[in-house]
Amino acid sequence: LVQLSGVQKHFGDLHVLKDIDLEVAPGEVVVVLGPSGSGKSTLCRTINRLETIDEGEIRIDGTVLPTSGKGLAKLRSEVGMVFQSFNLFAHKTVLQNVTVAPIKVKGVPRKQAEAEGMELLERVGVADQADKLPAQLSGGQQQRVAIARSLAMKPKVMLFDEPTSALDPEMISEVIEVMTGLAKSGMTMIVVTHEMGFARRTADRVVFMDSGRIVEVRPPEEFFSSPESDRAKDFLGKIL
Ligand code: ATP
Ligand code: MG
Repeated sequence: LVQLSGVQKHFGDLHVLKDIDLEVAPGEVVVVLGPSGSGKSTLCRTINRLETIDEGEIRIDGTVLPTSGKGLAKLRSEVGMVFQSFNLFAHKTVLQNVTVAPIKVKGVPRKQAEAEGMELLERVGVADQADKLPAQLSGGQQQRVAIARSLAMKPKVMLFDEPTSALDPEMISEVIEVMTGLAKSGMTMIVVTHEMGFARRTADRVVFMDSGRIVEVRPPEEFFSSPESDRAKDFLGKIL
């Protein structure tokens, strides 16, 4: 469903993605781990075309990523992304946050968008907050709204870049629970996270990155019990 081949990315002199090859199958959950600065966020952002690439190719469902125009808007709706900061529209209600893109970008009738929006809010457990403004919600609730907002575009794949890193500990589990449910429902997911419990339980494969390279791609039980590379051993030694 997502195919990266020979992807290279530089920021000036800095070579941040080095010859990245990665295929993610439909319904697969891939967790991306690696030290700070290893290129995890950049990898996510190139898949969503928030960053351009210098060389190589990225395909979503067989289609090469377009660089601009209508194709780009379509791609953005096929690839949902949830960030560390929730980035909700501050002056719109929770429900409006979820319905605005389907209405404006996809031309979904308001009534239908609202009905589907309420279903999504139900699914992430914040339907009772629908008429509030984001600032009136806890961080965990806001992040769940952000997930619902992404899902409202009916994406083929969801990217998560440290979705729980800005949350207080007691709110992390409610977001992880929503992500776990999404994974079980068959969503294709690429997840950058420090939540090793989620990685162990839910990932089909762990991608370990270091200095812009994919160093290991393994099932989580193998990766956590017997990492091959010294860099992965070192990384796990620091976080576990
Ligand atoms: P973290 O775990 O801290 O989030 P990361 O693995 O997500 O790190 P990236 O944010 O992808 O790492 O950054 C990879 C490298 O690219 C880093 O050295 C970073 O400083 C650099 N970088 C990221 N974005 C830019 C940018 N817009 N301009 C220049 N350099 C950048
Ligand atoms: Mg990052």
